[in-house]
Formats: sequence, structure tokens, C-alpha cells
Amino acid sequence: MTCVLAIDIGGTKLAAALVDEAGSVLFSATRPTPRTDVMSALAALIAEVTDGGPPPEAVGVGCAGPLDLAAGTVSPVNMPSWRGFPLRDEVQKLTGLPTMLAGDAQCFALGEHWLGAGQGCTSLLGVVVSTGIGGGLVIDGAPLLGPTGNAGHVGHMSIDPYGERCECGGRGCVERYSSGPNLVRWALENGWSPGAVHEPSDERSDDPSQSGARPGHPSTLRAGPGDPSPSGERPGDLPPSGERPGDLPPSGARPGDPSPSSERPGGPPPSGEQPGDPSPSSEGPGDLFPSGERPGGPSGGSSGKVTLRGPGEEADARMLAEDASAGDPVAVAAFERGARALAGMIASTAATAEVTTVVIGGGVSAAGKVLFDPLERALDDVAGLAFVRAVQVKQSTLGVRAALAGAANLAWQAIRPPGA
Ligand SMILES: [Zn+2]
Repeated sequence: MTCVLAIDIGGTKLAAALVDEAGSVLFSATRPTPRTDVMSALAALIAEVTDGGPPPEAVGVGCAGPLDLAAGTVSPVNMPSWRGFPLRDEVQKLTGLPTMLAGDAQCFALGEHWLGAGQGCTSLLGVVVSTGIGGGLVIDGAPLLGPTGNAGHVGHMSIDPYGERCECGGRGCVERYSSGPNLVRWALENGWSPGAVHEPSDERSDDPSQSGARPGHPSTLRAGPGDPSPSGERPGDLPPSGERPGDLPPSGARPGDPSPSSERPGGPPPSGEQPGDPSPSSEGPGDLFPSGERPGGPSGGSSGKVTLRGPGEEADARMLAEDASAGDPVAVAAFERGARALAGMIASTAATAEVTTVVIGGGVSAAGKVLFDPLERALDDVAGLAFVRAVQVKQSTLGVRAALAGAANLAWQAIRPPGA
């Protein structure tokens, strides 16, 4: 059997898997991202995954940005020990295999196109809405990476040239309106009082997205059968809900899972990061986020009413979603405002590249209807041309597994180009 080695690198977790041409996971493992000497941890992870399995033919690596694909280097925001780190060459040297590198949000898009919500579509935009907003494009089945790997950076597309100043230095970036921390910031500035509209024990029982499960994506909220499996996985062990068995590693471990770190296949991890929480020892399986997420992501946290520590804390966007679901007018307005900004970005991107499908993942997408319903309405208002109006917006179905799937697809495309 032939397979490729897929690797997903984030500030919190490293994940690797052997994946066959159909997308089945032959073996996978994860471990926490150490503060230093990440390469040694990665080497050990690769050895663990490849030990005893069929030899992979190529390697696909998705990594948190920023990165420079021209040079093959990465400088992940939450991995201070890697600045201009020659990741592609290092992995190639380590494995002796052709190695492909891309950003984690690009891998998210590629994964969703291959095995997720974007299957079969011609041109796809993948968007990860979390602490920041990442994106990736798949055009005619191939990733559009750009000369230095920055194509698809839709989080910093300006949707209002007279708008608010963004941290990137630009003005009116969609991230400034729609990321988790910015949704929360606006809501707090406009009088949102977290939890004021309902009792914590209410409303959570019938809506899985509001339960104690990890946000990040609906599929991460349903435990996959493979989740708790103790060690090596076999094909077919990991059917996430509603997906084909064995397709991909199941979504991240669940809250309350006792084993905080180390190699637990079944918990493919995303490259989420949480700033302010850099210590590997603090990372649990529950910290899994979809790739592309930035530190301080809105996902995470318990379902309880945690103490607000300030705008942008990870639990807050979740609380905002709970309150929006419960009808809090300010919380509802915050999501409507964020959705409208997303709609502007989506319409612009659709007009630019004629994307036919947009797949949205990331912690904020777990908000579900309170985000997607106003997004549909806003898009209907914002978009004009028929081909722009035709764009379909979908919620991610792979969740935290999307980036690993995309990394595998990247490797397969390198050795078996589409149409070849
Ligand atoms: Zn910006």
C-alpha cells in the first residue's frame, strides 16, 4: 500500500498521519508543541507514525504562519523558537522524501475540498474564523499558494476603506470585524453583559454547539469513535460522525479527557494557538483547534460562565454565541455585524476568483445559526452579479482534521498531479 506522510504544525500541537490515496488514515499521532527544539519533537512524532507502517512516498506539511514558501521557511507567531526556520528542508532531510509546505489555512481549504464540505466544487475559498481569520484558495482542484505562500489571506481584505484600523496596519480588514475577539470587543463596547439573558443551565442541553464540547466545529463536538483510542489507529477506526469511515482522524479529544498531551492518535490537532498560554504543559487535548487559528482563539474554555478576563479571551466568543442563541440583542447584533463583514469579503473573493463554494471553519463557526443565518442574509444583500450570488457558503465538516487532510492532499498532488 502506498501512502503519504501528513504533518500539521501549530503552536499547541504537532500532528502527523500516514494517509492513503483515498484519504484513509493508516496511522496517526499527536504531541504537544514544545517551546524549544520543536524539530526533535517532530522527528520523534514522525518516527512514531512511520514505524511499522508502509513507507510514505512524499510529505505534506501544513504550518501556522507566517511562512515564506519561496524560501521554505516558517515563523509561526506562537513558536518563538522558529523564526525563518527552514522547515521544508529540515523535513526533507529528515525523511529523505519530497516535501511540500503550505500554510495551515491553505491546508484547511485543501482538506475541505478533498474530503469535506467542499468536495466536488470547482473553486473553493476556505476561511478559518477564530482569534484571527485565515484563508486558503483551491482553484480547479489545486491550491493557489502564491509566490511566497500568502495567497488567500482574506482576513486582511479590507471591506471598509474608511473603517477601523487593523493590527496589521491596514484599515477596515474583515478580521477587525469578524474574528472572535473582535466580535466580543464590539459586544462589550455596546453593553453586552455576558450571561445576562439566561441561566447557565438552560439552553445548552439541546444544542450541541453550546454544550461543553469543544467549539471549533460541529464535528469536534461529536466524539468520533476513534477519539479515545489509546494508541495506534487502523484504517476504518476513525469514522467521524457522518463521514466515511477511516477518512481522516477524528476530531480533537474531548473536554475532560484525562490525558493532556502526548501521542494520542485520534486527536489530530490543529495548529491552533493560544497566546498567553504558551506552556506545553498547559495544553490538553481539549485545546485542539482547527488549523489557521491564531493564538487566543475564541474556541475553547468550558461551557460555564467563566470570569471575563478581558476582551478577546478564548471563552468569550463562545459565551457571546450562547447569548446570541438565547436572544441577547447585543450578542445577536455582534454576530450580524461580523457576518456582514464576512459577506463583503466573500462577495469580493467570489467576484475575483469565481469561487463557487466557501467553507467556514474555526472556533467561531461553532456558533452555528447565529453566524450562518445572518451571513446568508448579508450575502444576499451584498452580492449582485449572478455568479457571485451563486456562491455557496458551508460549514466545515472536517473541523480540526481539515488541515491534516489538506497536508496529505498536498503531498498526493506533488506525486500524482491531478489529471496526470
Ligand atoms: Zn488587517
